Amino acid sequence: MSNERQGWIEGNADHCGRTDPHPARPFRMVLLGAPGAGKGTQAELLTDRLRPCQLSTGDVFRAAKCANSDALSTAMKDAMAAMQAGRLVSDETVIDMVRERSHCVTCSYGFMLDGFPRTVSQAEALDEILADHDLKLDVVLNYDLPVETVVRRLSGRRTCRSCKTTFHVETKPPKKDGVCDKCGGELYQRDDDQAESIRVRLKAYEESTAPLAKYYDAKGLLLTIIAEGEPSEIFARTLTALEERFGPLPA
Ligand code: AMP
Repeated sequence: MSNERQGWIEGNADHCGRTDPHPARPFRMVLLGAPGAGKGTQAELLTDRLRPCQLSTGDVFRAAKCANSDALSTAMKDAMAAMQAGRLVSDETVIDMVRERSHCVTCSYGFMLDGFPRTVSQAEALDEILADHDLKLDVVLNYDLPVETVVRRLSGRRTCRSCKTTFHVETKPPKKDGVCDKCGGELYQRDDDQAESIRVRLKAYEESTAPLAKYYDAKGLLLTIIAEGEPSEIFARTLTALEERFGPLPA
């Protein structure tokens, strides 16, 4: 894992230690999108292209889940319980966690936040952290996909029990039914990829996170990208939309 992501996850106050040249134009961006909209894949592609630090709050919670539970604060233990139940962690805990890492959010390489903010209160807290350092968000990329397409995408997903590679019954089927092409492991459907839990996750997204699109639209920061098609097509669409707004992107 790269240093900057390690620094973010561990939350130490040191500078991330990046020594590569600064991007010619550092971007400070937020990614929004329902589960299954392919945000994670676009985050990887955008990080390669624009080189901001990629910061995911979900990564911090997942790392804490693996830590010795005696070492966790009460707030973090409550956060783990919420995550386990598929609920959102409280705004207070998430905001404290991001504040502790404000050195990452204000870094001169720029950032790409994935999974934060998820509520309007979190978005307001982010604005405050940035304003304290005379910084502003550049853009909020909103990956938009019809609910039925999300359900089809996620409910067709099959994951290898051994190596975790993912397949899709329609769009990326394994050579042999139920068997991983890579390692021969058994393919299964994750509990949270069952159609019913997908609908529950989407409802939570609609209720808590979708209002954020309005919040950012009112500030003129929202850039909505149709998340239909192959990852490379969606990425090309993203770059075109960014160029329309910001002019040619640095090579
Ligand atoms: P993710 O990988 O972004 O889907 O996050 C995994 C889980 O971590 C979520 O289901 C929440 O329980 C928790 N989580 C991550 N980021 C946030 C956030 N910004 N606000 C509340 N809960 C969060």
